[in-house]
Amino acid sequence: MSRVKELILLLFAIYFVGGFCDEKNQSEIKFEDGSSFLNKDSCFCQIDAGQLEDCSCTTEKISHFNNQIHDKLVKVLHGDYFRYFQVNFHKECKFWDDRDGQCGSRNCAVDTCPHDSVPDHVKHHKDDIHKKDSESTPAKDHTIMEFIQEKYHEFLPMVEPLVVMWHDFASSYLPPYLQPAAPCLEDPLPQYSKVDTSLSGAPVDLINQFCTLDPFESTEGCNYIDLIKNEEKYTGYQGKSAGRIWGKIYGDLCFAPKEGSSVSDLCLEEKTFYRIISGLHSSITVHLCSKYLLQQENPLMGRPAVWGRNKQEFLKRFDPKLTGNKGPEWLKNMFYLYLVELRAIGKAGSVLLSQDYKDSDISSQVQELVQAATQFKYHFDENDLFKSDELKKGELFSEFKQKFREISHLMDCMGCERCKVWGKLQVTGIGTALKILFTPTEDLRLTRHEVVALVNAFGRVSTSLMELEEFRD
Ligand code: FAD
Repeated sequence: MSRVKELILLLFAIYFVGGFCDEKNQSEIKFEDGSSFLNKDSCFCQIDAGQLEDCSCTTEKISHFNNQIHDKLVKVLHGDYFRYFQVNFHKECKFWDDRDGQCGSRNCAVDTCPHDSVPDHVKHHKDDIHKKDSESTPAKDHTIMEFIQEKYHEFLPMVEPLVVMWHDFASSYLPPYLQPAAPCLEDPLPQYSKVDTSLSGAPVDLINQFCTLDPFESTEGCNYIDLIKNEEKYTGYQGKSAGRIWGKIYGDLCFAPKEGSSVSDLCLEEKTFYRIISGLHSSITVHLCSKYLLQQENPLMGRPAVWGRNKQEFLKRFDPKLTGNKGPEWLKNMFYLYLVELRAIGKAGSVLLSQDYKDSDISSQVQELVQAATQFKYHFDENDLFKSDELKKGELFSEFKQKFREISHLMDCMGCERCKVWGKLQVTGIGTALKILFTPTEDLRLTRHEVVALVNAFGRVSTSLMELEEFRD
């Protein structure tokens, strides 16, 4: 009986919320081409409905928090430490031949920085990513033999040829009990970045298992991009090339629900992965709608290009009627992404505060940001995911890492330079956030590249939430 009551209450709630949304959305907007869409509120009613599923937070609390920190975040991102990001434009697409999908529009191009325009402290930054012995193991009394062994390893490269000759001689002419033990020539791996042997095949980056890091894969191929001068905006990149990338992500790489099923059919870990990706997609879409090319430039008439918000484009991409009722859920996924990155910034607080930003204003703003992130009460809780040690060692966690890594490789297939820069930056930022959430804090080390990507990626989704308010008005 109580089941029946619950069902009636549930149906009533669905009817009430649905009816409320519908009623609000009866007036239609007519566009120049004659098409019409529901009132913009239809995109927002589900967002305003409040509680985010599987989490203790509401969209309203997140927006309120975001309003308080957004300006600070923007200032931080204007600092030299954060505004230069390295990209290797020459990495090959490993999924398909991508030569057919290059975007020819000038809006797809970016200006790379001439070498001497990048501040020295950015160019010559050295990442201290290796764990110091004193940090990783408790101090211990060294025996004389250990001291000699240590020194032996230190000087090994210089005396290596002599050592090799000695070894050859000893192993050929001396009896076994007088032969020296073979030295270990390899540096030990930093403890936090052990190779996960459950990942299959392909070479695994030692520093970040969730995504590739361009500057660590090639020393010559990377360009610096000034992110402030090359903003994320509408580029016109679309059609087969862009569609193939999103298609590969949703078809293969993000646990997206299959035809005929829904997000609620996924397990929590899969749902989280899917929501993060969908949130990223929405955030990219919001940006291209808010920095849209409203009017082409006309040099003959002396008319510059006009850029600005395009509300119609926004509605076209998120209206429930045109998206099989999914648009509002896609927008809601940006709030999940926000929570994941915010939690990572809070958790990596001590690492972020230990960076040398070479600018006291930036250092103190980062400090305020970290403090705010730490104090936020309704954090995404990574402990709900992969709850047991078994799950952490299991196939799903490996798949989680591997799929995200594949998505980061997929960014090499983009036929639009500007989209590639911002795509790589945001995917690296999310990959770094995931690394932070699943690495014990005491073992966490971040490179400058990861810090820049993380904070900028958070800046992107923070701006998207601010833009949502503008599209609502
Ligand atoms: P798309 O946005 O291509 O979406 C394809 C399909 O995915 C939709 O039909 C829908 O079924 C589904 N979908 C849409 N949104 C979501 C969501 N949030 N969650 C789940 N499913 C969804 N263009 C620019 O102008 N500027 C950029 O900076 C830019 N950056 C890009 C970065 C990346 C990584 C990629 C892959 C593309 C980028 N693009 C950019 C292109 C842009 O994302 C669109 O692909 C393009 O505008 C064409 O849009 P569309 O209407 O065909 O739908």
